[in-house]
Amino acid sequence: SAFEDLPIHPDLMKGIYAVGFKKPSKIQEKALPMLLNNPPRNLIGQSQSGTGKTAAFTLNMLSRVDPAILTPQVICLCPSRELARQTQEVIDKIGQFTQISTMLAVPGSWSRNQKIDKHILIGTPGTFIDMIARKVFDPKAIRVLVLDEADEMLNQQGQGDQTTRIKRALPPNVQNVLFSATFPDDVQDFADRFAPEANKIFL
Ligand code: AMP
Repeated sequence: SAFEDLPIHPDLMKGIYAVGFKKPSKIQEKALPMLLNNPPRNLIGQSQSGTGKTAAFTLNMLSRVDPAILTPQVICLCPSRELARQTQEVIDKIGQFTQISTMLAVPGSWSRNQKIDKHILIGTPGTFIDMIARKVFDPKAIRVLVLDEADEMLNQQGQGDQTTRIKRALPPNVQNVLFSATFPDDVQDFADRFAPEANKIFL
């Protein structure tokens, strides 16, 4: 299969070529048709790092932003600041030919009395709890919520509960996307609550 056969905007195709991807990886081949289809559906995917999962959910996040509306529309939750930073880099590279802006949502990266005017926020759950409490953006404008490395996140004290609280502040029709390398029972239960009636991909 080919990226050209998928419903991907020409500006994003340019980004894909710029990073040097020739054809979709296995997980991308499975996930992208499901993720990009309308109306949006939730997705639960099993995938290790190194498989291309980041680019898969990045293409979906970038596809679902309306650049004309300068308010956060996509949240990507990561278990660590380092993963958030790496994920932002991937989004910025693939999105370099779009007008879409990103911001890291980690401690110290935002200020309490400034409205956030970026399209995609990538960060750790605790920071989003603070941001929502401070009303620095309108959670009702969010369309896509991605949770990367769910198994890692559930290993971090409090991050599972924080994620659930964030989700409750968002509109009910948000597209929820969850990736995890492993699915022990607790992760499976969490995933099914996070992303009900999801398409599922197990490699
Ligand atoms: P990830 O699984 O998201 O950590 O990605 C692993 C690596 O695969 C990264 O270095 C990506 O740049 C690379 N990658 C992702 N998708 C593709 C693709 N379609 N073709 C070639 N390399 C890719």
